Amino acid sequence: MAFNVQEIRNDFPILQREVNGKPLVYLDNAATAQKPQAVIDCIVDYYSTYNANIHRGVHTLSQEATDAYEAARKSVQEHFNIKHDHEVIFTAGTTHGINLVANGFTGFLSEGDEIIVSALEHHSNIVPWQMLCERTGVQLKVIPIDEKGVLVLSEYEKLLSENTKLVFVNHISNALGTINPIAKIIEMAHQQGAAVLVDGAQACSHIKPDLQALDVDFYVTSAHKMCGPTGVGMLYGKETWLNKLPPYQGGGEMIAEVTFEKTTYAGLPHKFEAGTPNIAGGIAFGAAIDYLNTIGFDQIEAHEHELLTYATEQLTAIEGLKIYGTGVDKTSVISFNIEGIHPYDIGTIVDKLGIAVRTGHHCAQPIMDYYKIPGTVRASFAFYNTKEEVDALVAAVKKAKTMLT
Ligand SMILES: *Cc1c(COP(=O)(O)O)cnc(C)c1O
Repeated sequence: MAFNVQEIRNDFPILQREVNGKPLVYLDNAATAQKPQAVIDCIVDYYSTYNANIHRGVHTLSQEATDAYEAARKSVQEHFNIKHDHEVIFTAGTTHGINLVANGFTGFLSEGDEIIVSALEHHSNIVPWQMLCERTGVQLKVIPIDEKGVLVLSEYEKLLSENTKLVFVNHISNALGTINPIAKIIEMAHQQGAAVLVDGAQACSHIKPDLQALDVDFYVTSAHKMCGPTGVGMLYGKETWLNKLPPYQGGGEMIAEVTFEKTTYAGLPHKFEAGTPNIAGGIAFGAAIDYLNTIGFDQIEAHEHELLTYATEQLTAIEGLKIYGTGVDKTSVISFNIEGIHPYDIGTIVDKLGIAVRTGHHCAQPIMDYYKIPGTVRASFAFYNTKEEVDALVAAVKKAKTMLT
């Protein structure tokens, strides 16, 4: 199927709206992606025709809901090339998945152990581990970045030792767009016997990771960045790890048997899915994955790369504009500032022109500290964005610059 961006845009009702009297130009995809009609319909259909609690009843609605939820788990499994469907844990999102793993490691670590994070992380892949350090007394080490916003692997190599128990890095940086060499990072960690968690929240809308090929121990992501709903996501864990980790929350659905003397836990994946989940969200997550695969990740990557190259050229031509994150392996996220202008002021002016960008530290303050800046303006492109929208952004940024200097 040929890639036709205009046809694709018709799948997204929100892209037809106006903001401040101008056509919406949505360039905040790194914060959350828009939803195609297929995903919206899926949610409406669930609540309109077969809303029921799952895994609980023998009645028809409950069985239909359970089947749809488990079919979504299968879609996730296939998409990420995961060996067993019970290695797919539905979560409330990336943040939830990371906290689940960080909490689970509490009993496995003690003073003298070390864990390694990267300087490129989102706060949700920093803070849960700092909390783990406080509980256990283990030490947190940080892989530094260079001026281009690329991880320095030679420094990573020095940090690794037999004391290293865990390494956690993102697949793609939400603040700069850098694609990290996670295959290499995983291989190096495994040579020291350390496990690896990859935060894939920013990656999965751009590329299709093969989790068995990567041999990663844990991989987390959020549906909402993949055109799915908010409040649902996936934790992948190797079966051996998931069997070892204790449950994160106790409640209904996660038990085999409960008495006041002793409770035994259910098997995977239910051990980690206490309580009534986001049923509609899980089902719609599956629909979002199906939608993205209908377009095809080869096409998505090619189109986004074209947008990134074009936008980088056009923005770089503006005098005084500096792009942060200039590594070779990069996805369609552009973080920038204009000399002497606060990013917030640029964001406010371009919004008046209907253009949605994000300004601030992008939940990644350590990166901003590295560059000694308060934040950046971030334009992040999805497969449904167009070259005309890049032109609109560039014109708006030029206008903002004129108004603010
Ligand atoms: C968005 C994002 C998160 C947080 O995802 P939530 O859905 O808010 O839990 C974590 N890491 C990265 C790299 C992200 O882009």
